[in-house]
Amino acid sequence: MGTFLTQEPIRKKMKIYNSLSRRLEDFEPLTPEQVTIYSCGPTVYDYIHMGNARTALVTDIIRRYLLYKGYNVKLVQNLTDIDDKIIRRADELGVSAKQLACKNCEAFFQDSLRLGIQPADVHPKATEHIREMIDLIQILIDKGAAYVIDGSVYYRVNAFADYGKLSHRKPEDLLAGARVEIDERKEDPRDFDMWKAAKPGEPSWDSPWGKGRPGWHIECSAMAMKHLGETIDIHAGGEDLLFPHHENEIAQSELATGAPFARYWMHVAFLKIDGKRMGKSEENFILLRDALDHYPTEVIRHFLISAHYRHPLDYNQESLTKSEGALRRLNNCLDTLKKYDADIEQNETADVPLQHAVQEMKAQFTQAMDTDFNTAQALGAIFTLVSEVNKSLSTFDEAKTPVLAHAYQALTETCQVLGIYNTEIQDSPADNEAKLEPLVDLLLEVRQEARNRKDWETSDKIRDRLKELNVEIQDTPQGATWKFITK
Ligand SMILES: [Zn+2]
Repeated sequence: MGTFLTQEPIRKKMKIYNSLSRRLEDFEPLTPEQVTIYSCGPTVYDYIHMGNARTALVTDIIRRYLLYKGYNVKLVQNLTDIDDKIIRRADELGVSAKQLACKNCEAFFQDSLRLGIQPADVHPKATEHIREMIDLIQILIDKGAAYVIDGSVYYRVNAFADYGKLSHRKPEDLLAGARVEIDERKEDPRDFDMWKAAKPGEPSWDSPWGKGRPGWHIECSAMAMKHLGETIDIHAGGEDLLFPHHENEIAQSELATGAPFARYWMHVAFLKIDGKRMGKSEENFILLRDALDHYPTEVIRHFLISAHYRHPLDYNQESLTKSEGALRRLNNCLDTLKKYDADIEQNETADVPLQHAVQEMKAQFTQAMDTDFNTAQALGAIFTLVSEVNKSLSTFDEAKTPVLAHAYQALTETCQVLGIYNTEIQDSPADNEAKLEPLVDLLLEVRQEARNRKDWETSDKIRDRLKELNVEIQDTPQGATWKFITK
């Protein structure tokens, strides 16, 4: 009592790299205490791959950390459930676009949960927001920012003076990279479609311009606005979405409302495989569900956040093995520390260096996460403390108990923010066998000594008991050998 503590100075220190300004900016949400996030979700024509998982996980970490800091967070992640790719794939498979989209939406939720990602507060589907999209397109037509040709509606890029402000491209460069359809009827090659006139056999909805379906960019503008209002705090997505998708979202939304669309634009770098971008179109990808069949959730999470989200990360066996080793080290340490958890009340400590290490870890973790969610540095802080704890445990005495309890609390708290601590992770069978080897060798020596003194009873007892434990002994002229019996 008598001391005045406040969270505020900590809050003010958070910085986010904003793609819009291309610099680190102080983070200040529009409404104090409340953060709104919109994250561009998947187009559900297939299962998600590890590259998609990186973006989804970064959003999950941002949300977890903001909650840890005491903010209220509202996260909206859309699902694009109508699109050229979905229609094409459904045709190939002989199912309806709706059936394919439903199946893959379900799969997306399952895969996300397996990766420890909680559902967003809202997961709006494009096909359930056609009304809002039509209304938004109508506003843009009324403002002279869109025009209709043969039942399709195009956005007039020239109407928005700030077009290009996110991608920092000059008007003459704006065509490069934008996969706009060559369409002679458009006023400007940069103009993009917000409403596509229906083609025979494709799913379509009624609109003032005839039957058709929405374009991809208008979906996000309409759904973000409906669920989060005119201005969002953080808009996140993969770096491949920056242009033209996010540039077009800004053009549509800001021209319609006159308000800034998002205060902070965050873009997650590509995941690479063999040095190349992992992607469906490149045909070099690992599905998240396949990776999860081979590695525990926490190992995959550790791998995906082992680099800062704006830096490249390469998917390879070596990195995954490293993450596996790191997680084993972490779990062994926390399993040992668990039993000291109860003694947190005492203040005196016999291990001042470890006490400092705990404080240092907490400060560095916060500093790293406050600086544009630097998970790589945050992990570094955690594993430095793990080494310090292991050092301290090697010369254990009872008086260290309170500081070990502090270490346990600090480690579990920070690991839970990153979602990398789970008591379920066990050693692999091969590791367990490796640990047993010296013990079996010792028992064989004892048995040999019994045999030397013709104590057959002890010798047979050791052989039989080991057999019950799935270790088989074979006596050979060169001495006894043994092996594990696999059932
Ligand atoms: Zn989007």
